[in-house]
Amino acid sequence: MKRLFGTNGVRGITNESMNAELALKLGKAIGSYFQGNIIIATDTRTSNEMLKNAVTAGLISTGCNVFDAKIAPSPALQYYVKNSDADAGVIITASHNPPQFNGIKVIDKDGIELSRKKEKEIEKIYFNEHFHKAAWNELGKVYDIDILDFYIEGILDLVNVEKIKECNFKVVIDCGNGAACYTMPYLVSQMANVITLNAQPDGNFPGRMPEPTEENVNELMKTVKAIKADLGIAYDGDADRAIFIDENGNFVYGDKSLAIVAGYVVEKKRGKVVTPVSTSSCVEEYVRAKGGEIVYTKVGAPIVARKMVEVDAVFGGEENGGLMFPEHQYCRDGGMATAAMLELLAIKGKSLSELIAEVPSYSLIKTKVECENNKEVMEKLKDSIKGDKIDYTDGIKVYVKEGWVLIRPSGTEPIIRIYAEGKNAAEAKKIAEKYKKMVEDII
Ligand code: MG
Repeated sequence: MKRLFGTNGVRGITNESMNAELALKLGKAIGSYFQGNIIIATDTRTSNEMLKNAVTAGLISTGCNVFDAKIAPSPALQYYVKNSDADAGVIITASHNPPQFNGIKVIDKDGIELSRKKEKEIEKIYFNEHFHKAAWNELGKVYDIDILDFYIEGILDLVNVEKIKECNFKVVIDCGNGAACYTMPYLVSQMANVITLNAQPDGNFPGRMPEPTEENVNELMKTVKAIKADLGIAYDGDADRAIFIDENGNFVYGDKSLAIVAGYVVEKKRGKVVTPVSTSSCVEEYVRAKGGEIVYTKVGAPIVARKMVEVDAVFGGEENGGLMFPEHQYCRDGGMATAAMLELLAIKGKSLSELIAEVPSYSLIKTKVECENNKEVMEKLKDSIKGDKIDYTDGIKVYVKEGWVLIRPSGTEPIIRIYAEGKNAAEAKKIAEKYKKMVEDII
């Protein structure tokens, strides 16, 4: 069976692998499957109107009503779908990818990205072209809808705004010309003094590329330091991920911010924290020290989200700055991450750098090996890798004396990924090289 959805929905390069024809057909398939009310939103990319209109045409041809939320962060759309009587949502976004990319992601009625099982059903309709055709007098209608205030108010209701305001924080936010421009300046202004960078929506991304990496957020780091701000925050293109800069202008890696927010939640509520097996051990150690428990999953935000529901977790997240707060919703949420970080700083009365210093430090190295038959090679690896503690949640994770290594086949490319963590860079490199050689020998 052919596959359409990857790990992040359907994604490709505008007018090449991601084009109006595909969007129209996918709109028909999604509409045939759901047969109801669909909310649609986009990030700020140049190809959004083309793709949104094509998806919308497909949806209404099947009789679905479409509610156009225009530009909005992915979590704002997910929050609205979850809390309204909508049957599904569609987001046109390529998240952190460069400007020429775009994508189509489907959100289920509960606000979580569609499960693989349901994606397969839509793929079946798409490839077999078994579309529902509405009669001329039963075509769907298109309505405008505003979802942003509902999202922002939902966040402000969940944090101690008074306590945060007392601190009079100075916060610099880098909206990266993306969907964050539509919510974050106002959200932060309700809690702190806000200074914005790249807050004009622009699909050419003139300020910086949409992924909030250390290289891309240099201006933010410099600004935080120059104006003596308390905190810097950068978002990706669809504002579901938030990356933090400490008061000295230093980049805070996503696993460290995940650890301190998880530790804070666990202190308040106890309970389980869900994260993929690829996450640094610093999170597990910090959360355990605060009295919480870690549950590991396969890599992928929707997988983490669904596991959180299953085990009734108090928190979940990924090392890329994707944090999930079940009291708000089960998805990565840049706005909620922003508010929670401000509350954490206010309640603890410590600076971000002081809080980060409490988290154990490890070094993580990521590498990969090209491999056409990666599934077969993984089977052979299973037989040859020995160890006291091996975890098969996603590929093979082996705990060694100095740290751990995770070897997993890519679901979409002919490669095997290797992640190695040690107490320092030299140790991590040693582990990575040892297991990389083992994989290469089998190939
Ligand atoms: Mg994103």
